[in-house]
Amino acid sequence: MKIICIAWNYADHTKELDNTIPSSPVFFIKPDTALLRNNQPFYYPDFTKNLHYETELIIRINKVGRSIEEKYARRYYNEIGIGIDFTARDIQRECRENGQPWTIAKAFDFSAPISPAFISVEHLGGLSDINFHMKLNGVTVQKGNSSDMIFNVDKIISYVSQFMTLKIGDLIFTGTPAGIGPVKIDDRIQAYINNELLLDFEIK
Ligand code: MG
Repeated sequence: MKIICIAWNYADHTKELDNTIPSSPVFFIKPDTALLRNNQPFYYPDFTKNLHYETELIIRINKVGRSIEEKYARRYYNEIGIGIDFTARDIQRECRENGQPWTIAKAFDFSAPISPAFISVEHLGGLSDINFHMKLNGVTVQKGNSSDMIFNVDKIISYVSQFMTLKIGDLIFTGTPAGIGPVKIDDRIQAYINNELLLDFEIK
Protein backbone atom coordinates (compact mmCIF):
# COMPACT_ATOMS: atom_id res chain seq x y z
CA MET A 1 0.00 0.00 0.00
CA LYS A 2 0.98 3.61 -0.32
CA ILE A 3 0.28 6.77 1.62
CA ILE A 4 -0.67 9.81 -0.42
CA CYS A 5 -0.23 13.12 1.38
CA ILE A 6 -1.74 16.40 0.23
CA ALA A 7 0.29 19.55 0.85
CA TRP A 8 -1.18 23.04 1.35
CA ASN A 9 -4.85 22.05 1.49
CA TYR A 10 -5.93 24.61 4.10
CA ALA A 11 -5.55 28.31 3.30
CA ASP A 12 -4.53 29.29 6.85
CA HIS A 13 -1.69 26.73 6.96
CA THR A 14 -0.57 27.60 3.42
CA LYS A 15 -0.06 31.21 4.58
CA GLU A 16 1.75 29.97 7.70
CA LEU A 17 4.40 28.39 5.44
CA ASP A 18 4.50 31.40 3.06
CA ASN A 19 3.17 29.48 0.09
CA THR A 20 0.65 30.53 -2.52
CA ILE A 21 -2.59 28.58 -2.79
CA PRO A 22 -2.12 25.85 -5.42
CA SER A 23 -4.41 25.63 -8.46
CA SER A 24 -4.49 21.82 -8.30
CA PRO A 25 -3.71 19.45 -5.42
CA VAL A 26 -0.03 19.02 -4.59
CA PHE A 27 0.85 15.60 -3.24
CA PHE A 28 3.73 13.38 -2.23
CA ILE A 29 4.06 9.75 -1.15
CA LYS A 30 5.16 7.97 1.98
CA PRO A 31 5.97 4.23 1.82
CA ASP A 32 4.23 1.62 3.98
CA THR A 33 7.29 1.62 6.28
CA ALA A 34 6.18 5.11 7.40
CA LEU A 35 3.15 3.69 9.20
CA LEU A 36 3.02 3.74 12.99
CA ARG A 37 0.05 1.80 14.30
CA ASN A 38 -1.82 0.96 17.50
CA ASN A 39 -0.81 4.10 19.41
CA GLN A 40 2.75 2.85 19.67
CA PRO A 41 5.35 5.40 20.82
CA PHE A 42 7.25 7.41 18.24
CA TYR A 43 11.03 7.56 18.70
CA TYR A 44 12.50 10.97 17.89
CA PRO A 45 14.91 10.42 14.98
CA ASP A 46 18.47 11.66 15.36
CA PHE A 47 18.72 13.17 11.85
CA THR A 48 16.52 16.18 12.68
CA LYS A 49 16.48 18.93 15.28
CA ASN A 50 13.10 20.32 14.26
CA LEU A 51 10.48 17.62 13.99
CA HIS A 52 6.97 19.03 13.41
CA TYR A 53 3.53 17.50 13.81
CA GLU A 54 0.87 18.04 11.13
CA THR A 55 -2.54 16.70 12.15
CA GLU A 56 -4.58 15.40 9.23
CA LEU A 57 -7.82 13.60 8.43
CA ILE A 58 -7.10 10.33 6.59
CA ILE A 59 -9.22 8.54 4.02
CA ARG A 60 -8.86 4.79 3.45
CA ILE A 61 -9.38 3.62 -0.13
CA ASN A 62 -11.61 0.53 -0.37
CA LYS A 63 -11.75 -0.10 -4.12
CA VAL A 64 -9.18 -0.21 -6.91
CA GLY A 65 -9.45 2.65 -9.37
CA ARG A 66 -7.69 4.89 -11.83
CA SER A 67 -8.80 8.03 -13.67
CA ILE A 68 -11.77 8.28 -11.33
CA GLU A 69 -14.28 10.98 -12.16
CA GLU A 70 -15.00 13.28 -9.25
CA LYS A 71 -18.69 12.40 -9.30
CA TYR A 72 -17.85 8.71 -8.73
CA ALA A 73 -15.06 9.26 -6.17
CA ARG A 74 -17.34 8.60 -3.19
CA ARG A 75 -17.53 4.94 -4.27
CA TYR A 76 -13.84 4.49 -3.47
CA TYR A 77 -13.83 5.12 0.29
CA ASN A 78 -16.00 4.72 3.33
CA GLU A 79 -13.71 5.25 6.29
CA ILE A 80 -12.03 8.23 7.86
CA GLY A 81 -9.31 8.30 10.49
CA ILE A 82 -6.80 10.77 11.85
CA GLY A 83 -3.03 10.81 11.82
CA ILE A 84 0.14 12.84 12.00
CA ASP A 85 2.26 13.71 8.98
CA PHE A 86 5.57 14.03 10.84
CA THR A 87 7.93 16.37 9.04
CA ALA A 88 11.61 17.08 9.63
CA ARG A 89 11.15 20.81 9.00
CA ASP A 90 14.87 21.61 8.99
CA ILE A 91 15.57 18.97 6.33
CA GLN A 92 12.50 19.98 4.33
CA ARG A 93 13.67 23.63 4.20
CA GLU A 94 17.12 22.52 3.08
CA CYS A 95 15.65 20.29 0.36
CA ARG A 96 13.39 23.07 -0.88
CA GLU A 97 16.19 25.63 -0.90
CA ASN A 98 18.33 23.24 -2.94
CA GLY A 99 15.49 22.39 -5.32
CA GLN A 100 15.51 18.77 -4.18
CA PRO A 101 12.57 16.43 -3.42
CA TRP A 102 11.44 16.34 0.22
CA THR A 103 11.50 12.60 0.50
CA ILE A 104 13.84 12.25 3.47
CA ALA A 105 12.02 15.04 5.36
CA LYS A 106 8.64 13.35 5.06
CA ALA A 107 8.84 9.65 4.21
CA PHE A 108 11.11 8.27 6.92
CA ASP A 109 10.22 5.26 9.09
CA PHE A 110 7.20 5.80 11.38
CA SER A 111 6.55 9.30 10.03
CA ALA A 112 2.86 8.47 9.62
CA PRO A 113 1.13 7.50 12.89
CA ILE A 114 -2.50 6.60 12.18
CA SER A 115 -5.46 6.09 14.48
CA PRO A 116 -6.09 2.42 15.37
CA ALA A 117 -9.77 2.88 14.52
CA PHE A 118 -11.38 4.51 11.52
CA ILE A 119 -14.96 5.80 11.48
CA SER A 120 -17.61 5.07 8.86
CA VAL A 121 -18.15 8.09 6.61
CA GLU A 122 -21.77 7.05 6.23
CA HIS A 123 -22.11 7.14 10.02
CA LEU A 124 -20.78 10.71 9.98
CA GLY A 125 -23.28 11.71 7.30
CA GLY A 126 -20.58 12.53 4.74
CA LEU A 127 -17.40 14.56 4.86
CA SER A 128 -18.71 18.10 4.46
CA ASP A 129 -18.50 19.09 8.13
CA ILE A 130 -15.98 17.03 10.10
CA ASN A 131 -14.31 18.73 13.04
CA PHE A 132 -10.94 17.51 14.22
CA HIS A 133 -8.35 18.69 16.69
CA MET A 134 -5.07 17.69 18.29
CA LYS A 135 -3.91 18.13 21.86
CA LEU A 136 -0.19 18.35 22.63
CA ASN A 137 0.34 17.54 26.31
CA GLY A 138 -3.33 18.27 26.98
CA VAL A 139 -3.46 21.64 25.20
CA THR A 140 -5.30 22.00 21.88
CA VAL A 141 -2.76 23.19 19.31
CA GLN A 142 -4.48 22.37 16.00
CA LYS A 143 -8.14 22.57 15.05
CA GLY A 144 -9.70 22.04 11.66
CA ASN A 145 -12.88 21.39 9.77
CA SER A 146 -13.12 19.40 6.55
CA SER A 147 -15.15 22.21 4.96
CA ASP A 148 -12.00 24.37 4.97
CA MET A 149 -10.09 22.06 2.62
CA ILE A 150 -9.07 23.83 -0.59
CA PHE A 151 -9.55 20.53 -2.49
CA ASN A 152 -12.15 18.19 -1.04
CA VAL A 153 -11.66 14.43 -0.83
CA ASP A 154 -13.53 13.67 -4.06
CA LYS A 155 -11.41 16.20 -5.99
CA ILE A 156 -8.23 14.75 -4.47
CA ILE A 157 -9.18 11.19 -5.46
CA SER A 158 -10.04 12.26 -8.98
CA TYR A 159 -6.80 14.21 -9.38
CA VAL A 160 -4.42 11.67 -7.85
CA SER A 161 -5.98 8.73 -9.74
CA GLN A 162 -5.09 10.36 -13.07
CA PHE A 163 -1.45 9.69 -12.24
CA MET A 164 -1.45 6.58 -10.08
CA THR A 165 -3.84 3.70 -9.54
CA LEU A 166 -5.49 3.75 -6.13
CA LYS A 167 -5.56 0.38 -4.42
CA ILE A 168 -7.49 -1.10 -1.52
CA GLY A 169 -5.88 -0.02 1.75
CA ASP A 170 -4.14 3.05 0.35
CA LEU A 171 -4.38 6.02 2.68
CA ILE A 172 -4.81 9.66 1.80
CA PHE A 173 -3.61 12.26 4.30
CA THR A 174 -5.76 15.24 3.36
CA GLY A 175 -3.59 18.13 4.57
CA THR A 176 -3.11 20.07 7.78
CA PRO A 177 -4.73 23.24 9.12
CA ALA A 178 -2.75 26.06 10.80
CA GLY A 179 -1.02 25.46 14.11
CA ILE A 180 1.80 23.10 13.15
CA GLY A 181 4.75 23.07 15.50
CA PRO A 182 7.65 21.14 16.99
CA VAL A 183 7.53 18.10 19.27
CA LYS A 184 10.08 16.96 21.80
CA ILE A 185 10.81 13.79 23.73
CA ASP A 186 8.16 13.01 26.37
CA ASP A 187 5.39 14.88 24.53
CA ARG A 188 1.98 13.27 24.24
CA ILE A 189 -0.19 13.61 21.14
CA GLN A 190 -3.95 13.04 21.25
CA ALA A 191 -6.05 13.53 18.12
CA TYR A 192 -9.82 13.61 17.85
CA ILE A 193 -12.48 13.47 15.16
CA ASN A 194 -15.42 15.47 16.46
CA ASN A 195 -14.94 14.74 20.15
CA GLU A 196 -13.86 11.15 19.83
CA LEU A 197 -10.28 10.42 20.89
CA LEU A 198 -8.82 8.20 18.16
CA LEU A 199 -5.05 8.64 18.29
CA ASP A 200 -3.04 8.80 21.52
CA PHE A 201 0.71 8.21 21.66
CA GLU A 202 3.96 9.48 23.14
CA ILE A 203 7.22 10.76 21.75
CA LYS A 204 10.20 8.90 23.21
MG1 MG B 1 1.03 17.40 5.75
